Amino acid sequence: MQQAGSARSEKRNAAGSRTTHPYVGRSVSLATKHGKEEQIAPAFSQRLQMRVEVPVGIDTDVLGTFTGEISRTGSPTETAYAKARLGMQLSGSPLGLANEGSFGPHPALPLLLADTELMVFIDDERGIQVQEMLVSEDVVAAQCTARTFAAVETFLARARFPSHALIVRPEGVLQPDLLFKAVIDPQRLQELITLCAAASPVGLAHIESDLRAHMNPTRRRVLSQLAEQLAQRLACLCPHCATPGWGVVDHELGLPCGWCGQPTELLRAVIFGCPACSYREHHGRPDGLQHADAGQCPFCNP
Ligand SMILES: [Zn+2]
Ligand SMILES: [Zn+2]
Repeated sequence: MQQAGSARSEKRNAAGSRTTHPYVGRSVSLATKHGKEEQIAPAFSQRLQMRVEVPVGIDTDVLGTFTGEISRTGSPTETAYAKARLGMQLSGSPLGLANEGSFGPHPALPLLLADTELMVFIDDERGIQVQEMLVSEDVVAAQCTARTFAAVETFLARARFPSHALIVRPEGVLQPDLLFKAVIDPQRLQELITLCAAASPVGLAHIESDLRAHMNPTRRRVLSQLAEQLAQRLACLCPHCATPGWGVVDHELGLPCGWCGQPTELLRAVIFGCPACSYREHHGRPDGLQHADAGQCPFCNP
């Protein structure tokens, strides 16, 4: 695997001579307290021969938690970059990585719940930031309220318990000492439902998926895929200045109609760019389509 990575990480620079990728042999700090290095390190090792290192004593929870004890103040993008900076400060490394996930309506299909994962990379030596995003519809994020353990049977199947952990608390009140995370034992779950229902002003326990990566294998698979995506992008050097991180930076709409030639709302081009210089390239659609169907034209089919 190492050798395959080495071959891939050698690129031709603008002059056409073979160069070793600038990140080969480097280490990058990863800000995580939930073991995300297991999902992220393999791609960085194989694609770039980089070592992913987690700074000792890092606590990314200071930037907000999924369970709401500490609310997040920034956008997911701001939080991801702040996490990466935190790791870089602790390790003293000029290279940093971090991930931030958010769960909510799918950006394209709002009725569907989606896991939007962002992974960011900072290189202070080159003054660049590179990010990749992945939206997954394969989400295990369920919640319910219940008075008894017997009432949650169908919920547990939906929440894929116990392969996916749960969080239990009393419904209607947020008490830090009655917030139980990482629940994977059915006996313990039963006890906690009884305890939290008794402490709730409405007599119900609130049960929800523990979305933290180390407790949610579905999310871990998405992270592995996203790490691969970011490592691949960093392996690509700008054709103009050879900075790592060449990739898609924008999209252009306006694919011309096949009948009248007027622009439609469909994707026309994908724009590739460099994180360091202003060099850009317009590439056609990945599927090669050059004209839109007249049925999708606002002039031919208003
Ligand atoms: Zn038309
Ligand atoms: Zn460039």
